[in-house]
Amino acid sequence: MWSLWRRIRRTGRAAEPAPAAPGAPPPVPALAGSVQIRHVDAGSCNGCEVEIGSAFGPVHDAERYGARLVASPRHADALLVTGPVTRNMAEPLRRTFEAVPRPRVVLAVGDCARDCGVFAGAYGVTGPVGAVVPVDAEVPGCPPRPEEIVAALRALTGR
Ligand code: SF4
Repeated sequence: MWSLWRRIRRTGRAAEPAPAAPGAPPPVPALAGSVQIRHVDAGSCNGCEVEIGSAFGPVHDAERYGARLVASPRHADALLVTGPVTRNMAEPLRRTFEAVPRPRVVLAVGDCARDCGVFAGAYGVTGPVGAVVPVDAEVPGCPPRPEEIVAALRALTGR
């Protein structure tokens, strides 16, 4: 058994790395390879969530590029935030951000997360995600296509 273990250790990962996403910016070096992501719905209509579900589903399969959704911000490297930030979600979003260990990245997904989109000016909206926590990257669209979400995740993982 030990000889097999030594052989596995010597061989390492046999699979070739995936090609870089076309036009993708260079990855955040500290997170390259594998990124654990906590999703936060800060007030979305759930349209963005449908596309995120598709990005991680069997067709687009974002996990094959090293991006994985986790249940706790304490296990996460990055936050994937959707929706305009409602008054009730501003403080939970701040606390979730503080719970993510450094180095951490915030990805604002969808037009609402970027600039409040169709909910701009609504009485229950505090503002875009960038008004509550620092945003490192944005994915435009209402909702963004799963391909664009996967491309943004690949820019994080560098795979
Ligand atoms: S960007 Fe569009 S799909 Fe996403 S939360 Fe806003 S309205 Fe809904």
